[in-house]
Amino acid sequence: MARWVTSNPTSRRMARRFVAGETLDDAIAVARACNQAGMRASLDFLGENVASEAEARQVQQMYFGVFDRIAAEKLDANVSLKPTQLGLDISFDLCAGLLESIVAHAAGLGNFVRMDMEGSPYTQRTIDLCQRLRARSDAVGTVVQSYLYRTEADVKDLLAAGCRLRLCKGAYKEPPEIAFPQKKDVDANFVSLMKLLLASGIYHGIATHDPAMIADTTEFAAQQGIAKEKFEFQMLYGIRTDLQQQLVREGYHLRVYIPYGTQWFPYFMRRLAERPANVLFFLRNLFRR
Ligand SMILES: Cc1cc2nc3c(=O)[nH]c(=O)nc-3n(C[C@H](O)[C@H](O)[C@H](O)COP(=O)(O)OP(=O)(O)OC[C@H]3O[C@@H](n4cnc5c(N)ncnc54)[C@H](O)[C@@H]3O)c2cc1C
Repeated sequence: MARWVTSNPTSRRMARRFVAGETLDDAIAVARACNQAGMRASLDFLGENVASEAEARQVQQMYFGVFDRIAAEKLDANVSLKPTQLGLDISFDLCAGLLESIVAHAAGLGNFVRMDMEGSPYTQRTIDLCQRLRARSDAVGTVVQSYLYRTEADVKDLLAAGCRLRLCKGAYKEPPEIAFPQKKDVDANFVSLMKLLLASGIYHGIATHDPAMIADTTEFAAQQGIAKEKFEFQMLYGIRTDLQQQLVREGYHLRVYIPYGTQWFPYFMRRLAERPANVLFFLRNLFRR
């Protein structure tokens, strides 16, 4: 399925709505355009669940190059990466070691590494990685998902360790034993977690395209006297560009998450699954003669 979709010209064209391109040059060009439009960027070299240590080490080398390129191009951009892209399925210690070297490289350039949060089998290990790395460097942070029941407790622990967090709703299919099945509960939890984050005084990212979540955030910040530059909104490349521009015009910090690379199939599928309209649009185009 992945091979068929990624080689099909129609799906390749559609994926370009959500993916900057297949090369680092493509991602750098998009990041530069974002910076010129007053937005920050976060580059995500697509890939997850690598199966060998050699692959994980290649990814490590590649991220050194990404940070060097960001510095050379003087871009306002950091990096988002997935722990399973750095061997978390193979060994926790291997992944921790590779991440530590990437965080040290980023820190040396005054930059920052965000560990994306993947599906629930990885939640605890990703938090453990973040706590371990954060004890040695403040150039690392992670992501919390408002659809998980456990997240409020995780946020409290991570805030106590001074971690910078990205709050999102969560993009993986999780069972009702561990995640709110109803969107209204995910949204309500998002708002209460957003309040914890903003009140902490640490610089966090509020990652959503949902106008209601954004309005609650700006209202809470205004009520509490939290200045606009004390946090940032984050949105995905290709989604609600109008809202991205509006927030910049209103003086908020806005970071665009820019995925690139050839391994775009799982990312593309998650973006389709989020919106039934996307799936219909995709299928209609795929089978159109
Ligand atoms: C910067 C960033 C980083 C993220 N990192 C992670 C992560 O590490 N781990 C993780 O699990 N999830 C991550 N996500 C995904 C997130 O969990 C949600 O799945 C996704 O953002 C959709 O939720 P929403 O808050 O936009 O609200 P929703 O209620 O889902 O959507 C609100 C509105 O946004 C628009 N929209 C949302 N998604 C789409 C789409 N796919 N296509 C078209 N329009 C859309 C629609 O207009 C929709 O009405 C990230 C999201 C962002 C913005």
